[in-house]
Amino acid sequence: MTREDWHNRAASLQIDGRGLIDGKRVASLSEETFASISPIDGRLLTDVALMGAQDVDLAVASARRTFEAGVWSGRAPAERKAVLRRLADLIRAHRDELALLETLDMGKPISDSTSIDVRATSNCFDWYGEAIDKIYDEVAPTAANTLALVTKEPLGVVAAVVPWNFPMLMAAWKVAPALAMGNSVVLKPAEQSSLTALRLGELALEAGVPPGVFNVVTGLGPEVGRALGLHMDVDGLFFTGSTQVGKYFMEYAAQSNLKKIGLELGGKSPNIILKSYRDTAHAAQTSARSAFFNQGEMCTCPSRLIVERAVHDEVVEVLTKTAAEFVPGDPLDPATTMGALVDHRHTERVLGFVDTAREDGADLRLGGTRERAETGGCYVAPTIFDNVRNEMRVAQQEIFGPMLSVIPVDSVDEAIKVANDSCYGLASAVWTDDLSTAHHVSRGIRAGLVYVNCYDCDDMTVPFGGFKQSGIGRDKSLHALDKYAELKTTWIALGR
Ligand code: NAD
Repeated sequence: MTREDWHNRAASLQIDGRGLIDGKRVASLSEETFASISPIDGRLLTDVALMGAQDVDLAVASARRTFEAGVWSGRAPAERKAVLRRLADLIRAHRDELALLETLDMGKPISDSTSIDVRATSNCFDWYGEAIDKIYDEVAPTAANTLALVTKEPLGVVAAVVPWNFPMLMAAWKVAPALAMGNSVVLKPAEQSSLTALRLGELALEAGVPPGVFNVVTGLGPEVGRALGLHMDVDGLFFTGSTQVGKYFMEYAAQSNLKKIGLELGGKSPNIILKSYRDTAHAAQTSARSAFFNQGEMCTCPSRLIVERAVHDEVVEVLTKTAAEFVPGDPLDPATTMGALVDHRHTERVLGFVDTAREDGADLRLGGTRERAETGGCYVAPTIFDNVRNEMRVAQQEIFGPMLSVIPVDSVDEAIKVANDSCYGLASAVWTDDLSTAHHVSRGIRAGLVYVNCYDCDDMTVPFGGFKQSGIGRDKSLHALDKYAELKTTWIALGR
């Protein structure tokens, strides 16, 4: 489709902003709404239901009722698989609609929404659907006169609270394994990006997920997210978002029913380019493309580029050249490689780091400017700070925008030390052709993901999550299923 096609489709979209509870689209009990504004150009997309604690009560009650009734939890894994795979097919069939909603709602380029977000979301439902009827429980090797069964049971009512940077995909990473395991789910999308979550809920109904098994509640974090966190009848709460809010969820759990908590939080990922890597230019190009992808709004954004001084100048030269590939443009144009940031508040916060970097003594090499202001949208140029010291604020705080800090170092061990000097531990990378150095660095870095001579490889088969204040637990892979299950041991006496 051309830019004009996408704009025409956007102009004729009818968007329903009501929540989804017990299989029905519903307004909030208060009948209040909030405006969903597109960061592309400030247009009003729709009014979204401003739900609160009482709406959350209804959604949780509906999830509890369906869970206890066994309409989903009691179905054979092979039946759940068939429904989840149908949902994956429906997501693919609605690719253009879902991609358009995602782009309008949070600003990413339409070519990324279609080729990455929609594809990865459908793949996630396929993958957990396919997995669930191939997992066996255990019989423990106990004495001959007993039988001890170790079985996995669904947690019960699972709540998922997700961010806006990959709205549908972050929801899928939680909803797919939770449903596969037989739980009933209440999903709360970020207030900046509610629209694809609501369509996902409708498509799940169409695929055959029984009404009330998958509910979507919209509204503000401190109201709806907090109400889910504090709810006495939610058995597990799985969160993706900032470290600050992740800490609140641990408090909510402690103040209420000690619900199970899973946290996928922020990052400040170190990316180490060493002189022992044969192709400095390739390392620098990949680093820039990974840092500026999705407007830099990525938890795994390699925002600290730690460079051995011998290759520093070449790295910075190639970085700045490659950054030119990312020109903020109309997100509905399939040729656009860099879209809008999520909203004006976030844009102001990101741009504020330009002054912060200057005050702390960093050199601004590229960007640092607001772009396309005439559109009424939220655009920032790719930005590179050079000669950054790791204690500076731009190297310590998560910016979550298109900003990259270059930190020169003198040795491999200094690079590891700098990499680990962060409260985060999500992703990391090292570029080297020396096998021992690759192992030395990957063992030395305290992070959940280490890339060697690459960045942002991705597959459903591998766990995703962080060390330190980047979170607790893992999304993706078979490991994620364990989060949504309780282990039960059943002893059966066999002898007399
Ligand atoms: P956020 O923490 O502000 O919001 C995330 C969700 O929490 C939203 O749904 C929001 O409504 C809700 N929320 C906000 N305040 C709340 C409160 N007081 N109580 C309960 N709920 C509340 O994060 P964001 O700005 O939407 O997303 C950006 C953050 O997400 C970044 O820190 C990024 O690194 C992180 N992230 C992490 C991963 C990962 O897998 N580790 C993936 C994507 C994004």
